[in-house]
Amino acid sequence: MLTSGRTAIATIIASIGAGSGDEVLLPAYHCRAMVEPVRWTGATPVLYRLNPDLSIDIDDLRTKISDRTRGCIIVHYFGFPQELSAILTLCREHGVPLIEDCAHAMYGDFDGLPPGAGGDYAIASMTKFFPVADGGCLVSARHELDSPALRAAGGRYAFKSCLNLVERAVSYDRLRPLNHLLAPLLRIKDLAWTRIKATATQAANHSESSDALGFSPDTIGVRMSTPSRFIFRRTAAARLVSRRRNHYRFFCDAFAGLPNCRPLVRNLPAGIVPYVFPLVVDVPQTVFPILKFDGVPMFRWEDIPDGICDVSTRYSRQLLQLCCHQDLRDSEIEWMAAAVRRAVNT
Ligand SMILES: *Cc1c(COP(=O)(O)O)cnc(C)c1O
Repeated sequence: MLTSGRTAIATIIASIGAGSGDEVLLPAYHCRAMVEPVRWTGATPVLYRLNPDLSIDIDDLRTKISDRTRGCIIVHYFGFPQELSAILTLCREHGVPLIEDCAHAMYGDFDGLPPGAGGDYAIASMTKFFPVADGGCLVSARHELDSPALRAAGGRYAFKSCLNLVERAVSYDRLRPLNHLLAPLLRIKDLAWTRIKATATQAANHSESSDALGFSPDTIGVRMSTPSRFIFRRTAAARLVSRRRNHYRFFCDAFAGLPNCRPLVRNLPAGIVPYVFPLVVDVPQTVFPILKFDGVPMFRWEDIPDGICDVSTRYSRQLLQLCCHQDLRDSEIEWMAAAVRRAVNT
């Protein structure tokens, strides 16, 4: 258990020996959190194309494999499995390790196996499924992971992880009746912190604030923090699975027949535990800002380079990822659905 999914990607790419002059295959539809760890190893990300349903364009993938290819990363987008057999065959033919990015697929039944059991390695992200401030994992069903002992994160890191959690819980009104007690304390902390930071920045003439999307190499070799591991172990998987599935199905029904948009996947087969609800909208330039303004929890992956994969470029604007987290209340899901219906009808 590591500190994040991106740390897990960097760890595995480095440990299979990829570095400067080597290439790692990545899907054209991706987020920065996948690219930066690959770049950190010195290897060059090479992007392959996807089909409109986000399945892998195998013919394109084949042309992208070279004698410098050291790894191939695939993504089970939003919790839905990629068809593995053709990719596995291709990777085996060329001796390229297959890395399953299961950041969206923490749970599920993929042909009788858990996600991540088909390829050489798999990574996952805890923060996407659990109420934790850090955490990622790296597993292999095929290889002995040469795991050097992970360093404990240290008290400061664990404390920050805890504080971050409490702050977020309070800001979303999740800790009643403690809220009234905690909110003023946190405000005092924020004020003090802003002061300290301003002073420190003046003194050192640099800002320490880390980019949330960035990847920091100093988290490599560090173990997931104790508070996060505690919460991870205490989370009831059955409730997580059923609530996420219920939220997803609610969105399916709410958006059925709605003009100007369509779910990327219309139904939810058994065994799928969704990460988000992917909605493709026809007029993102109006819909996206409206939903942002309304405060609907959703986002899109915008850092997709032009000219490689038309599908991915289009989805960087049109594909909205709507949260369907287990801890969203039914009333919040209903409110989100109503906001989307209004936005696509304007
Ligand atoms: C979020 C994400 C990651 C990185 O996970 P973190 O835990 O946020 O570092 C990797 N791959 C995909 C597809 C992701 O969505």
